Amino acid sequence: MQASVIGYPRIGKYRELKFWTEDYFHGKISEHQLKENAKKLRSEQWEVQSGYGIDLIPSNDFSFYDGMLDTAVLLGAIPRRYRDLHLNELDTYFAMARGYQGGNGDVKALSMRKWFNTNYHYIVPELDDQIEIRLSGNKPFDEFLEAKEQGIQTKPVVIGPFTFLKLAKYKGKKQLHDYVDVTVRAYVQLIRQLGDLGADWLQLDEPILVTDLTHADITLFTQIYTALLEQKGELKILLQTYFGDIRDCYTDVTALALDGIGLDFVEGRESFSLVQRYGFPKDKLLFAGVVNGKNIWRNDYGKTLQTLRDLQKSALQIVISTSCSLLHVPYTVQSEEQLDESIRSAFAFAEEKLEELSELKALVDDNASERSPKIITNAQVQGTARHKSEPSVQQRIDGLTDADFTRSPAFAERAALQKAALQLPLLPTTTIGSFPQTQAVKSNRSKYKKGEITAAQYEENLRSMIKNCISLQEKLGLDVLVHGEFERNDMVEYFGEKLSGFLFTKQAWVQSYGTRCVKPPIIWGDVKRSSPISVEISQYAQSLTDKPVKGMLTGPVTILNWSFPREDISSKEMALQIALAIRDEVLDLEAAGLRIIQVDEAALKEKLPLRKSDWHTEYLDWAIPAFRLVHSGVKASTQIHTHMCYSEFQEILGDIDAMDADVISFEASRSNLSIVDAIIQSGFKTAVGPGVYDIHSPRIPAKEEMAASIQSMLQKISPEKLWLNPDCGLKTRGEAETLASLKHLVEAASQVRGQL
Ligand code: GLN
Ligand code: ZN
Repeated sequence: MQASVIGYPRIGKYRELKFWTEDYFHGKISEHQLKENAKKLRSEQWEVQSGYGIDLIPSNDFSFYDGMLDTAVLLGAIPRRYRDLHLNELDTYFAMARGYQGGNGDVKALSMRKWFNTNYHYIVPELDDQIEIRLSGNKPFDEFLEAKEQGIQTKPVVIGPFTFLKLAKYKGKKQLHDYVDVTVRAYVQLIRQLGDLGADWLQLDEPILVTDLTHADITLFTQIYTALLEQKGELKILLQTYFGDIRDCYTDVTALALDGIGLDFVEGRESFSLVQRYGFPKDKLLFAGVVNGKNIWRNDYGKTLQTLRDLQKSALQIVISTSCSLLHVPYTVQSEEQLDESIRSAFAFAEEKLEELSELKALVDDNASERSPKIITNAQVQGTARHKSEPSVQQRIDGLTDADFTRSPAFAERAALQKAALQLPLLPTTTIGSFPQTQAVKSNRSKYKKGEITAAQYEENLRSMIKNCISLQEKLGLDVLVHGEFERNDMVEYFGEKLSGFLFTKQAWVQSYGTRCVKPPIIWGDVKRSSPISVEISQYAQSLTDKPVKGMLTGPVTILNWSFPREDISSKEMALQIALAIRDEVLDLEAAGLRIIQVDEAALKEKLPLRKSDWHTEYLDWAIPAFRLVHSGVKASTQIHTHMCYSEFQEILGDIDAMDADVISFEASRSNLSIVDAIIQSGFKTAVGPGVYDIHSPRIPAKEEMAASIQSMLQKISPEKLWLNPDCGLKTRGEAETLASLKHLVEAASQVRGQL
């Protein structure tokens, strides 16, 4: 049996690529240096994979920013405005990725979207009528030859034509169908050239095949691949799918003249039964994705070997593979020497997954019995309690009744009571929570962490920052204030660190987009809050002003979605555990005198299943109640806010409303307020704060611009239901621009109020 890796992480064990790239952006290293460094990184990674005996090692999985962007450039899809900057190749590429502002012009970046159900984001290719798709780059060839020179035969990896065309944005008159023939031609040329260079395999990634497909989609897919495969020559083609199963097109895919088909047996709930039901063609290799590319726990060899043996009954030849690219897991457990060995042995990051592939491969080849030492050791790891359990948490969950998920009285009655209690003006102004994380804010935290200042000094600095922040907001004239979140480095990490059940790593970084990486905590045991977390700080902030200050918390679904989850209990159970912990915090905040509490669910949409039929049963049916559990215990007069980062929730508006918050704020400034129409049509009851301005840009919108935007919101939303706020937290912004923008916001609000 052979072993295959779909893709390897590319940021470097210690995020080297991130730092080199940022150094390049700041002119600290040359293009040549950056490229040389990257070359060395690639070479080391191939060496590691080859060392573990991986037979099909990916190449062209490296990227300076993103693989979809690489594919667009490879196909010549560079919009005119970037060409017109007349920058060199690399800088044109970075201009598409992150925008350009300088001597050669001023252009925004291409848009960025979430990559399926991951926290990775890709750059959306843009096709306009001027673009001529043709093979225009050398990256896959260069990287294949680079590895070959090193004595390593790789399997180049490219995003497949169907996924590319489906995810691209069409800006001109030409639509997807107008690009099909030229795209096929470009891929045929790619295949031919790789064949000429001596490649054996090409992996074409088609994750879009695991989503809901229409008949037209399947026809188009078949048309593209039939044409491609007719002209492919000697090179073997692996059609790689991941993040789910291909139930809509399994028989269409297996009927094609492919050499290998990659299926995901981890996230693909139906992959196994599809193979059983329809069989698998004898002339093709089945690439069985059985080593989880998304989570960080050790593989269960007993279970995996059983799956492989069962599959062998249907497919003549199997290649053992990761379930998706290892891009979504950190590099290696070895970097976490601070963790106890008993804990570390439960984990497999990318490098440990290579070891798993090679061990599993050997175990199958040797037809190993259950008594083989590798299997016994693995079973022991599986058998030792990975997770710390807290019986009291389970008892609490068992005792929950419908009433715990229902806030009473109903919305309208609460709204009236809150109006009387809070005495806010119409169109109240507020912010989402964080204020700029200045150097002083960051250094206060890092000095305290390093032990350079005492806890008392840290607290004192914190209090003075909060005091400033409150007085600043009062001067600005905002109606509902926040404490500024100066104690938080990250909205999930902050709570995770104070709850039991979470584990933190040092180097377990995962790429989120470009040079941005995240270090998700690991849910290690039952989650429990042993003492109040943010109560003292919030109470202090409230003591400084007569205006209401919002208690500021992160919601259970977001904490769960931005962590590595356990696999022994369900997402629902984890969400309920976290919800109970946050619920206790909510009740303590209320008791401490906070009249408004915001529970952020920034990542609520992140894990919405790819298939619509799963939306409720697999996700929303527990995620929305988990949020309600957090706030159902407060008094009617306490106002609950929530915040979501994107407004792309048109299709689940009913569920968002069913969270039963009193107010929801969200990003709307970049979506042309189309969300506002949808909200009205849906009969949404929750009051809304569609972001009046975009905080992702340093730009300061004028008062008139904001007033106009508020006016247009008022065309649709009644003033009783409308809140005014920026569209997300201000932590990444500079102080000066923040002040100026908020000043304009408050002025715009009072101008519009005067016209009501
Ligand atoms: N309260 C958080 C903040 O203001 C919300 C951040 C977010 O939605 N990502 O930073
Ligand atoms: Zn946000």
